[in-house]
Amino acid sequence: MSSAEKKAKQGGQGLRTPVPLEVLYLSVFEQAPIGIAVVNDKSFVVNDEFGEMTINDRFIQILGRSREELAGIKWTDITYPDDLKKDLESFEKFRRGEIDGYSMEKRFIKPDGSVIWVNMIISPLTGASEKGFSHICLIEDITERKVADEALIYSNEHDSWTGLYNRNYLEKVLSSDLRRRKSAKCALISINMSTVQSLVKIHGFHYTQDLVKRTGEELRKYCSEDRMLFITYWDRFLFYVRGYSTDEELTGICSDISDVMKSMLRVDRIGAGIGVIVFDRNAENDVDQLLKKLLIASEKSAMSNDDDFKVFFYNDEMEEQIRREEDIRRELIRVAYDEDHNALFMQYQPVYDLKSDRICGFEALARLNSEKLGRVGPAEFIPIAERTKLIIQVGRRIIRMVFRFILRLREAGVSDMPVSINISAIQLLSENFAGEFLAIMDEMMIDPSSVEIEITESVFADEYDRINEVIAVLNEEGVGVAIDDFGTGYSSLARERELNVSCLKIDKFFVDRLLIDDPDKLITCDIISIAHKLGHTTIAEGVEHEDQMSYLAAHGCDKIQGFLISRPLDEDVALDAVNAMS
Ligand code: C2E
Ligand code: CA
Ligand code: CA
Repeated sequence: MSSAEKKAKQGGQGLRTPVPLEVLYLSVFEQAPIGIAVVNDKSFVVNDEFGEMTINDRFIQILGRSREELAGIKWTDITYPDDLKKDLESFEKFRRGEIDGYSMEKRFIKPDGSVIWVNMIISPLTGASEKGFSHICLIEDITERKVADEALIYSNEHDSWTGLYNRNYLEKVLSSDLRRRKSAKCALISINMSTVQSLVKIHGFHYTQDLVKRTGEELRKYCSEDRMLFITYWDRFLFYVRGYSTDEELTGICSDISDVMKSMLRVDRIGAGIGVIVFDRNAENDVDQLLKKLLIASEKSAMSNDDDFKVFFYNDEMEEQIRREEDIRRELIRVAYDEDHNALFMQYQPVYDLKSDRICGFEALARLNSEKLGRVGPAEFIPIAERTKLIIQVGRRIIRMVFRFILRLREAGVSDMPVSINISAIQLLSENFAGEFLAIMDEMMIDPSSVEIEITESVFADEYDRINEVIAVLNEEGVGVAIDDFGTGYSSLARERELNVSCLKIDKFFVDRLLIDDPDKLITCDIISIAHKLGHTTIAEGVEHEDQMSYLAAHGCDKIQGFLISRPLDEDVALDAVNAMS
């Protein structure tokens, strides 16, 4: 017999140390680093009890139970419930011979309740006789890998600070829901807390971050299987309502959210924007569009000033409005940075002196005339300019335009008609506003007595001291300062005394009341007399009727402005009017 023939007979082709096969197989079975169970039952009757199987040590070790303990247990008893259905289904198919075998990742439960992940392979095993083996089950412990995987998935889908689901996961859930096309009324509710950024300056980042976290914890109480909470940005939450039946149900959810926000933010006196978009899972298919529309509704709500916690539902006009705002913003950028762009122009409304019965000055009012949008009023574009901070640049241009008008008045021989310029809080609080304003005056050789500035009363609420400092500088140089829209803001008359202002402009609201209210109950006359006691002159705004003018004259108001005297005029028309007077 050749040596090759000898080796073949020993059954171990190429084996250097011949070992009896039984010893070899037994050692492999006992010492293999994977769990092996052999089911020795062709009838499949008792196949699910471990006691009926031939099991190696590693199998026992992986399952974390003693051999004796396992003997009386079925594998279905210690399979993790979520994995049982799939395992049983596959096993049934295998038993019926529909599949040759199967493998799956599944969990077993240990006696202490913890879970062990295994990769399991089930494969048929035929023995020497008909009664031989049925199948073999191999298990490999993959718990460590699974835990790492899960941690990775968790961090991919959760926000580390609040533990809430993140934006990634929101997009995943939404796209999967939209793909499934189940008809259901759904809603996304966005909660925009970006106002908390103002708290960072006051209380620091930790306080603010903690407030956001606590708010998340409160909101979480309203979660359920069909109401998932996400944090999509560090100061933005989002509820995904996966199905609701009535509109009342949805408004109920919104008002609960609104209440939570009120209770969390009231102490710090800030608001939050709540925007909602409703959709049908069956009709909608674009996650991006959906989130864009939601953003529009929540921005709208965050920008609203009338109620800090009002809920805004998305509608198509909102999108149109956003588009228009964007067009205005673009126009303003050109106004700010392109000197040759002439969409911005000024009109001048005469101010009328009731004592001397003549025009005694002008208020400069800005207008936009854009190619694309036509005429746009300041009530629309000034707030956009303020929000985008473009007002600082645009305001510089306005100041120069008004100064040029003042120079034209001087050329026409008029030097006793001051022109007032409206200045926003953002301008006033911008770096070195007073210094710059005075420098332009100097450069254009403008006499301080021919310029006034108007600041709306409401701006004093937040930054009283800083604003007063700025106007003190201007006042010192001889520039008059008027409080605009007086009576509508928050300033108390007690503080008015400390302000460096020369004039109060009584808001149109009080002038309108003159036509409506019982004359005995009118307070317009009181405002005039208090203003005088504080040493300010008074201008009544929005005077449209003779009756209003006579009341104001009778109660000592100094000046009036309004359509009764004149509407705002184009620069040339205003100059003509002045020339006609002299
Ligand atoms: P405001 O400073 O209170 O200006 C008075 C507003 O009332 C002007 O509206 C004026 O056209 C209007 N008005 C005047 N008389 C009457 C009247 O008898 N009846 C009625 N119904 N209205 C009258 P306008 O020009 O639309 O300006 C709106 C606001 O925009 C201004 O309110 C002011 O706050 C702001 N604004 C205008 N120009 C500028 C500017 O150059 N810079 C800044 N920062 N804000 C400006
Ligand atoms: Ca004004
Ligand atoms: Ca006003």
